[in-house]
Amino acid sequence: MTPLRGRLTVALIGLVVAATGCAVLVRSELAGLRAAFETDARIVHRLLSQRAAQHDAVMAMLSLLQSDGGASAPDRRVTSVYPQVLDVRQRSGDASWADPALAAAEGESRRLRRAAIAGVDFAGGRYWLVQAAMPASHAVQIDLAGMVPREEWPMPAETSPVRVALEYTGQQFLLQPGRGNGSWTEFDFRKRLAADSQPFEVVATRGIGWSDLPWLKMLGWILLTVGALAGLLALERQRAERRRAEELLRLGQVARLNALGELAAGMAHELNQPLTAVLASTQAAGRMLNDEPAELAGAREAMQRASEQARRASSVVERLRRVVERPDVSAKLRPVSLEDAVRNALYLLEPQLQRLGIKPSLRGAAILVLAEPVALEQIIHNLLSNALDALAQVPAPGRSLDIEGRVVDGKGLLTVSDSGTGIAADVLPRLFEPFFTTREGGLGLGLSLCESLATGMGGSLAAANRAPHGAVFTLQLPLAAA
Ligand code: ADP
Repeated sequence: MTPLRGRLTVALIGLVVAATGCAVLVRSELAGLRAAFETDARIVHRLLSQRAAQHDAVMAMLSLLQSDGGASAPDRRVTSVYPQVLDVRQRSGDASWADPALAAAEGESRRLRRAAIAGVDFAGGRYWLVQAAMPASHAVQIDLAGMVPREEWPMPAETSPVRVALEYTGQQFLLQPGRGNGSWTEFDFRKRLAADSQPFEVVATRGIGWSDLPWLKMLGWILLTVGALAGLLALERQRAERRRAEELLRLGQVARLNALGELAAGMAHELNQPLTAVLASTQAAGRMLNDEPAELAGAREAMQRASEQARRASSVVERLRRVVERPDVSAKLRPVSLEDAVRNALYLLEPQLQRLGIKPSLRGAAILVLAEPVALEQIIHNLLSNALDALAQVPAPGRSLDIEGRVVDGKGLLTVSDSGTGIAADVLPRLFEPFFTTREGGLGLGLSLCESLATGMGGSLAAANRAPHGAVFTLQLPLAAA
């Protein structure tokens, strides 16, 4: 996965986690608001139902006690005991109600054997309740506003967002206005009072607006998600860095230096013995020649020993040269994609590429060649890092690095072209010599090793200059299909 794709994926996951978390928070907040709303609405319904039942009880009491019309008669006292009762009327004998609506309600009451409503006027905030009885029937007028038990009311009536009304045949009497705020959804509650005589409906609504959402919690969750993902990304970056370092080690940069150190130590050890012997033999020969008379036979033997030891030293050096020049990679050849090898090497060099502001172009490298994967990566890595060394020495605007794959004459070709300093005419023929370098601190082993590796895999490596400036290295390898 490329770093950009990786980052996009992480951002997408973050978005999903943040959105899901916020959705869960909103859901639970709304569920809490709904539960609170329904509890309040049910309490209101119960309180008003109790009041309605109380009215039924008042009617029954008036019928039972039957007034004598005196000052202490129950119908006179009712208004002072029940503040919501505005007026009490009585009809007895053959008298008739002044209001025909009350007469109709009395008939209804007689038929249903319970109190019946009349003259419901929600705009005026009142209604009549009529109870037919013998010898006298009663009617009481009830004040809707007085019906509300403020002391037991479950919500702060002025500031609560819940709107509560009593409804009867399309008329509404507002009990609580509900603080209005821009709302995009609503909770509803509707239930008829639990008194058959007063079939009013309690209608409660609560608008849900943007200000009801749990913004602080959501912000907290988003910050938590962002923090966790940033931590994850940092961890991932660290891991990528470690992988890069491990890869570099694998590619043998460090290993090669270590091997060189070991080689030097081994060389010193192996050469020390014959050279010491050469020195001892030549010194002995010198002494014997200086003797009077000169001991020619002994001197000859000593010189013979010296030359044998010198040959031994030379064979050590020769052996060493073979080791350095011809690492055997031919045994591990297998089909490898040039493109994969290039991408791996580019990945390792990404920090340098970024520092130098270079965006390399890669074309036509989807070619399968026969190679040893690590050796191939090592060659490409060397060519690319040499190109970067050369590019670092020219001004940034002119820096370009082009990598191109081609198939020519049944061989896979990979060219690495840079617009760097180019190669001086006297340097070009010595480029692949071991220990040849123009770089301060350079080992001069990179290209010689690359060439050895390329020939070891049945291919070749060539260098040339490029117009108007820069160098181009061409790696040729057998195709895997061939
Ligand atoms: P080192 O990088 O240690 O010097 P190399 O064998 O990789 O050893 O390179 C040998 C020399 O070849 C370099 O010192 C440099 O002068 C020359 N060289 C290699 N690649 C390039 C290039 N792309 N542009 C110019 N010079 C190059």
